[in-house]
Amino acid sequence: MNETFRALESIPDVEIRKDEPLARHTTFRVGGPVRLLARPRSESALFALLDAIRELGVPFVMLGEGSNVLAPDEPWEMVVIQLHALGGEWGRGKTVLPPAQLAGNPAAAPAAGENFVYAGAGTRLRDLIRFCVENGLQGLEGLAGVPATVGGALFMNASTSFGAISAPLVHIDLLDAEGSKRTLSRQELSPGYRTMGLPQNCVVLGACFELRPCERSMLQKRVEEILEKRRKSQPLRYPSAGSVFKNPAGQFAGALIEKAGLKGFSIGDAQISKKHANWIVNRGTATARDILELIEKTENEIFGSFGVRLEREIRILDQLYRSPAQC
Ligand SMILES: Cc1cc2nc3c(=O)[nH]c(=O)nc-3n(C[C@H](O)[C@H](O)[C@H](O)COP(=O)(O)OP(=O)(O)OC[C@H]3O[C@@H](n4cnc5c(N)ncnc54)[C@H](O)[C@@H]3O)c2cc1C
Repeated sequence: MNETFRALESIPDVEIRKDEPLARHTTFRVGGPVRLLARPRSESALFALLDAIRELGVPFVMLGEGSNVLAPDEPWEMVVIQLHALGGEWGRGKTVLPPAQLAGNPAAAPAAGENFVYAGAGTRLRDLIRFCVENGLQGLEGLAGVPATVGGALFMNASTSFGAISAPLVHIDLLDAEGSKRTLSRQELSPGYRTMGLPQNCVVLGACFELRPCERSMLQKRVEEILEKRRKSQPLRYPSAGSVFKNPAGQFAGALIEKAGLKGFSIGDAQISKKHANWIVNRGTATARDILELIEKTENEIFGSFGVRLEREIRILDQLYRSPAQC
């Protein structure tokens, strides 16, 4: 396996970090060293990396801002790929593509207009939102305050009570498991609660959004209001991954957890937030094991007390890796 991983280190135009602590790349600030963290600097470098991964049969996982994942404590024999360093030829999220460029793609088939924004998957969602606000484009500002890359937000169908990323979506560009580039229009996707319905082993490359013209000052005000609401209701002082569980139909996971008397309950430095019971916060030195134990304890208590099976919103990273057999 050593030789296999080493072969990936020589692919041109890919920034490689060996034994990189994942705690540096997750918002929980938890995670041990991963064998290789790879950041391709161009689309062709990404394709070369994925071709080599497929050929060598190495497992890999995509990572965005790491804001919805729990990374393992132990050293991990894995390639983690981040798209943050991609730029140049496909826009890095700052490109308003003229409709002519989209017209060549029948799957996308957007109407002609000035209000299409294309964003590469490694673009930070907050940069995309800032770009839209500055250009008076409405449709994504409801996601203000969600820490994400565009790729992660699309994969998870990030949403808030003010809007979902799937709403203004026109199409997603991705690489499928065979490494073929595909474009899926909004109609071909099946967005749901924290899912876009994409296969686990695809690589999201970017997406096109259709937005609406709007007064810039109104959008700015809206973003400030949303951020203020988040500051008031969310425990943003501590590292976390946001909500841990999905809300069961017709109920709030946080309310059930609070009712079960678990608010403030801790294992090690992992604590069920006193401010928002559906959040687990890292009060300093929490490990993935502490957090996972707290998640399991919560699931058991809620099932025992209310007969409700909580579904996890956060993703346990070492359960997600793609083995060569899956690719
Ligand atoms: C403080 C805080 C507040 C939050 N509030 C919200 C909220 O209001 N609403 C909400 O929906 N979420 C919220 N979240 C959760 C999280 O921000 C979202 O789920 C976000 O969309 C994850 O994006 P990411 O780039 O960090 O993805 P990651 O967490 O890095 O990854 C999530 C999943 O996407 C996959 N993935 C990432 N990039 C790609 C890619 N390019 N191609 C294929 N797969 C990929 C990963 O493999 C993983 O399965 C919050 C989190 C925090 C820490």
